[in-house]
Amino acid sequence: MKPLHIETPLIESRPLSAAAERAVWLKMEALQPPGSFKLRGIGRACQEYARAGAARFISSSGGNAGIAVAYAGRQLGRPVTVVVPETTSDHAKALLRQEAAEVIVHGPSWQEANAHAQSLMGEGDAFLHPFDNELLWDGHATMIDEVARTGWRPDAVVVSVGGGGLMCGVVEGLRRNGWADVPVVAVETHGADSLAQSIAAGHRVELPGITSVATSLGARQVCARAFEFAAAHPVVSVVVSDGEAVQACLGFLDDHRVLVEPACGASLALAYRRHAALQPFEKVLVIVCGGATATVETLQAWSSQFGG
Ligand SMILES: *Cc1c(COP(=O)(O)O)cnc(C)c1O
Repeated sequence: MKPLHIETPLIESRPLSAAAERAVWLKMEALQPPGSFKLRGIGRACQEYARAGAARFISSSGGNAGIAVAYAGRQLGRPVTVVVPETTSDHAKALLRQEAAEVIVHGPSWQEANAHAQSLMGEGDAFLHPFDNELLWDGHATMIDEVARTGWRPDAVVVSVGGGGLMCGVVEGLRRNGWADVPVVAVETHGADSLAQSIAAGHRVELPGITSVATSLGARQVCARAFEFAAAHPVVSVVVSDGEAVQACLGFLDDHRVLVEPACGASLALAYRRHAALQPFEKVLVIVCGGATATVETLQAWSSQFGG
């Protein structure tokens, strides 16, 4: 079956290489049609569920996972229902409706929206989890398959971590291409640092809430597989500030003419700040995970809020 995602460019970034003082290559997942890497995994899962007879897809993500489900459903000719909390921005709701999804607003936070989404599940409905699903990881891993096919081998891969689905997919991709020794630099923002806190505590921590503007990293707890990989694979955990992530988004907009969310800016910030975590590596691959929900206006407002 032809996948729903596209093969994205792998480019060497002159501006980011200059800032980081090493070769920085970019896997441009921001260019996936719904704006983020999520289509790789979600598309993979939706195709599988459709083949097994799913008549409708249900999601409780008002962010890029929901947008990817809406896109996949439209491509596969299946209706999509997304239940989002009242806190979801008009911009995000508009993006979901633009992909022809039915948007139901329910409850003050994701917990209530998710519970309502579960209650709507009928026979023939498939629920798409945003990060904790093996089909998703298998789909995300294809971005590493594409890099491996070019013959260029990174010394390390930088990924942003929310619930850890992207990280699981990248580790799976490294392993299945014979690159199990290539380290992963796992980046979060303060206030959404559920992996860093779990590693420090030695067990999976559940954050009391999310305080970062990088809402796409806002999983209160990483999935069990991501926590296992943090021990089983060479993983370096890094936490950056919201201000650093937002500045990186604005820098990237100037340097590469692509607008990404702070969730992605967190990874880019490592190169812009010549972060110590990159010190051991000559050739770094940054997954430009993207994100469709930020605008120039929101980035600028956050920038002045953080004194950028
Ligand atoms: C979902 C998302 C992430 C985090 O991915 P996880 O699989 O939840 O770790 C990072 N960046 C963007 C833009 C996202 O949409």
